Amino acid sequence: MFVDPFGRAITYFRISLTDRCNLRCVYCMPKEGVQLQSRTEQLSVEEIVRVVETAARGGVRRVRLTGGEPLIHPHVVEIVRRIASIPNIEDVSLTTNAMLLERLAQPLAEAGLKRINVSLDSLNPDKFKRITRGGEIDRVWRGIAAAERANLAPIKLNTVIVRGLNSDELSAFARLTIANEWHVRFIEVMPIGNAQDWGEGFPAPAERYVSVQEMKRRLSTCNLYPVSSPISNGPARTFRIPNGLGTVGFISPLGEHFCEHCNRLRLTSDGKLRSCLVLSNEVSLRESARNGQPLEKFFEQAIAQKPEYHDMLVSTPAGSQRSMSQIGG
Ligand code: SAM
Ligand code: SF4
Repeated sequence: MFVDPFGRAITYFRISLTDRCNLRCVYCMPKEGVQLQSRTEQLSVEEIVRVVETAARGGVRRVRLTGGEPLIHPHVVEIVRRIASIPNIEDVSLTTNAMLLERLAQPLAEAGLKRINVSLDSLNPDKFKRITRGGEIDRVWRGIAAAERANLAPIKLNTVIVRGLNSDELSAFARLTIANEWHVRFIEVMPIGNAQDWGEGFPAPAERYVSVQEMKRRLSTCNLYPVSSPISNGPARTFRIPNGLGTVGFISPLGEHFCEHCNRLRLTSDGKLRSCLVLSNEVSLRESARNGQPLEKFFEQAIAQKPEYHDMLVSTPAGSQRSMSQIGG
C-alpha cells in the first residue's frame, strides 16, 4: 500500500492526459496559451496504462482524467476502457469543459466512465465566452444533457468564483440544484496558472479572491443545510437547499485547505508524478514507463515527498510555474 510519511493512504490518482486545451479560461491560461509539451514528451496509451497498473497495485482505487482538456485526446475512450478494466480500479471519472461532451458522453460511458465534472463559470452566454475566451455555453448544456442520457452520474459542476466576474452568480448557480440532481461546487480561485493581468474589463489580481466563508454568507438566503457528500472523501463541504434534488459544495484550497485528508497523487501528461498541486517537486517515470521497467520506486519517491500541508496564500503565486492545465487540475 502507498502510504505517505503522515499516514495518509494514497487511493486517488489524477491523470492529466494532455496539456492542450480548446479553451483559454482567463484564470488558467494567458490568451496566447502556454508553452506546450511535444507529442513525444507525452505518455502513450500503453505507458499510461502501465502507470495506472502500478498505482492500482499500490492501493489506488479511483482515477480521474483531466488536463488540459482530456476530451481532445484522440484516444480518450480507449484510455477509459483500458483503465476501467485494470483490477482494483473501482471508479474512473473525468473533468472537462464539455465542449466535446455531446458526442463523447455515450462512448465514454460504454467504455466504463462512471462520472463527470463539468467546469462552468457563468450561466450568461456572453460572460461564459469572455471567461473561456471563445467557449459556447450551448455546447456545455448539450454535453450535460448527453451525459445525463448516458447515465454519467452524479454530474458535478465546478465553478471557480472570482469577485467582479461571476461572484454575482453564486445564487443562480446554487438554485440550479433545486430542480436538477446536479452537484454544484464553488471553488476559490488560486494564484496558479494565469495569476497576472487578465486584460481589459477583468478584475485586478488583488481583487479576485472570494473566500468560501464569504460565498456561504452571500448564499444565506438559500438556507443551505449540511449533508453528507454524494461521493465521499472529496474536498468539498456539502450542503443542500431545502427540497433541492442536488447539492451545493465548497472547495477551499486556500481558506480551509483539506490537506489533512489528502489521498491524492497526480500524473502530468509528460509522465511526472506530483504529490501536491502546489509544490513543484515532481518525479519523472517516463523513461522507465517507456522501457517497460518497474515503476513502484517512482511512486515511493513521489509519495515520500508529499508535504503535510501546503502554504499557498491568496496573494502569493504558488511555488509552481506550471498552470493547472499543465499539472492536471
Ligand atoms: N479542461 C478541463 C476543465 O476545465 O474542466 C480540465 C482541466 S482544468 C485545469 C480543471 C479545473 O481546474 C477546472 O475546473 C478549472 O476551473 C480549475 N482551475 C484552473 N485554474 C484554476 C485556478 N487558477 N484556480 C482555481 N481553479 C482553477
Ligand atoms: Fe482549458 Fe480547463 Fe484551463 Fe479552461 S480551465 S483553459 S478549459 S484546461
